[in-house]
Amino acid sequence: MKRAKAMLEVANVNKSFGGIMALMDVSFRVDRGTITAMIGPNGAGKTTLLNVITGIYMASAGEILFEGKNISGIRPHQVSYLGISRTFQNLQVFQNMSALENVMVGSHCRTSAGFIACLARTLKVKREEKEVRNRAMEMLGFVNLAGKQNQPGSSLPCGDQKRLELARALVSHPKLVLLDEPVSGLNNSETEEMGDLILKLKESGMTVLLVEHDMNFVMRVSDVIVVLNYGEKLAQGSPAEIQNDDMVIAAYLGD
Ligand code: ATP
Repeated sequence: MKRAKAMLEVANVNKSFGGIMALMDVSFRVDRGTITAMIGPNGAGKTTLLNVITGIYMASAGEILFEGKNISGIRPHQVSYLGISRTFQNLQVFQNMSALENVMVGSHCRTSAGFIACLARTLKVKREEKEVRNRAMEMLGFVNLAGKQNQPGSSLPCGDQKRLELARALVSHPKLVLLDEPVSGLNNSETEEMGDLILKLKESGMTVLLVEHDMNFVMRVSDVIVVLNYGEKLAQGSPAEIQNDDMVIAAYLGD
């Protein structure tokens, strides 16, 4: 039987920074509607790979295929336009902006009205603004922040800020979301809430690729786990397979 086209394919990707080989011949696929986690020790190359996928870095060799199309080397805003959005390892919430404005920022590359139209605030601009606002409100509700739309970013606890970033990543109707350490800095109940949300995202049909060190969280939410070590793919499998993989235990998980 022919296998369906992957949502994302990382094919033989290398990335070097001067003499440092951050990624060496890394290949894996992310199937539509699944949650894939990348794990591995500090410096293994996880964030570098997210940066290669999103066009922040250009791969030194290899290809990134999105829905079967080679997107290697295209600019970050083009990657976003194609339907890949992401969150970052460190909180990127604008502290002086309201929660709603923080989410609306995520849709900037989707609106089509040009500069002159914006200046004139034509009907088209107003309509697009209204649509973006409605979508942002919907996403705030999705991440359990309904009612907090007018609060400044700075007033929100860490768990709310992380979920706010998720809402921002979702506002542009992506097909694939990349989450860099979605539960770092969160307490147990905030981590559980984030896990529930990511599983709810999957139920809605979204495809997710995430990087995370919290193994309970990873084992709970992932369909597939890819393990990186010193820039190389060490293993790939289901949570149960990875938990029992001797090489992964020796390199990362421990006993
Ligand atoms: P962590 O779990 O600590 O976030 P990671 O697996 O995400 O680690 P990366 O941040 O991708 O690891 O780093 C992989 C390697 O590439 C490291 O040796 C790092 O120092 C190096 N590296 C990453 N970005 C750059 C850069 N812009 N310039 C030079 N070296 C870099």
